[in-house]
Amino acid sequence: MTTITSAERQALDLDAADPLPTRRAQFHVPPCGAGQPGAGEMAYLAGNSLGLQPKALRGRLGAELDDWARLGVEGHLEARRPWLSYHELLREPAARLVGARPEEVVVMNSLTVNLHLLMVSFYRPTPQRHAILIEDSAFPSDSYAVRSQAAFHGYDPDEAVIRLAPRPGEAVLRTEDVVEFLRADGHTVALVLLGAVNYYTGELFDMEAITAAGHEAGAIVGWDLAHAAGNVPLSLHEAGADWAAWCSYKYLNAGPGSLAGAFVHERHLANRRLAKFAGWWSTEADTRFQMAPTVTPVDTADSWQLSNPPILAMAPVLVSLEMFDEAGMAALRAKSTRLTGYLEELLDEVCAKRAGVSVITPRDPRRRGAQLSVRIADHDVGPLTVRLRHDFGVVADARRPDVIRLAPAPLYNTFHDCWRAATALEAVLDGHAAGLDG
Ligand SMILES: *Cc1c(COP(=O)(O)O)cnc(C)c1O
Repeated sequence: MTTITSAERQALDLDAADPLPTRRAQFHVPPCGAGQPGAGEMAYLAGNSLGLQPKALRGRLGAELDDWARLGVEGHLEARRPWLSYHELLREPAARLVGARPEEVVVMNSLTVNLHLLMVSFYRPTPQRHAILIEDSAFPSDSYAVRSQAAFHGYDPDEAVIRLAPRPGEAVLRTEDVVEFLRADGHTVALVLLGAVNYYTGELFDMEAITAAGHEAGAIVGWDLAHAAGNVPLSLHEAGADWAAWCSYKYLNAGPGSLAGAFVHERHLANRRLAKFAGWWSTEADTRFQMAPTVTPVDTADSWQLSNPPILAMAPVLVSLEMFDEAGMAALRAKSTRLTGYLEELLDEVCAKRAGVSVITPRDPRRRGAQLSVRIADHDVGPLTVRLRHDFGVVADARRPDVIRLAPAPLYNTFHDCWRAATALEAVLDGHAAGLDG
């Protein structure tokens, strides 16, 4: 028989009293297997890796499939949401999400592809200034992308790519250290490309300060928002970022491998001298079907598009952006801060009792998003997360060598999920078998 402890009761009370009730019922939460604790649903804390499926999506995808079946090629103009201009529907909500002007954003391709397309324009190295500055703990795809860009331009990636590491003994890179580096050595840096929220540590950089320092040094500043979009409020335009890109399958819940976003600051939009790759979706829409042999330039982020948009991949992004508009990023951020703060309190208790277990994410809520990264020495974190999932219905992920990441997403996670995660982690660290009392 299950008894509810006072700690669990507190979590349930926090859920009941929260000013922003969970939208969990609007998502498919993976079920727990028989005999696992929890209310038949996983405590899914891996939304920073792959967000959950909105229930509204199936109907919306079905509508596009029906329009295609019914209309064939006429769907370009006659679908309920005409395909020719479908990507226009995403522009304003995507711009709101990242704090941009509508003409500064476009949804297209996948994230790493967008990083490359934007670097075609914004990484223009010279012998005197060809370095690319990234975090030492940059996501591998970003690291591979910048190394291949440097090599493409004829530079040695080992020399051209500068990886900034935290101070000795520290787990996260300080904003002031990035700024300091740019002051001292920025004259060699052509491009700064950082994750606004680092995927490994969960640290949120001061984007404005770093962007300003990059510009002061004469560098271009781009941001990877993979872990920031839909997680923290963003103001790309105000922060002055030159460009940015993000995927939409993490906090944005648009499905595995779904389309990415791209941002180019207004100050670059009318610059006809920028190097750019082109395709038939780069040209001005009104004259596109005159089939002219040359591009008629447009002064929006659309001019970075190449191909006609994949409608079946765009429908989930539209569903996602509508949910974010409905909930409002400010309310979501406030709830996220409460959830993550609560999880931190519980994890602090777990850490206090065990040597070698610590939260490496910054403690200041302004310097992080929804994710807490827990460093666990002397444990293989791979099997540990398998046990969390199999024995406790708690989904976290392992980042070798020694970190697990827990991300309470405010759209669908609850205080009770946080309680389940902390309790399960404690039990697994203590070597307990499945906690039948949850
Ligand atoms: C998730 C993530 C990616 C993934 O790249 P794709 O092109 O979408 O496969 C890249 N960079 C960062 C920082 C990420 O967090």
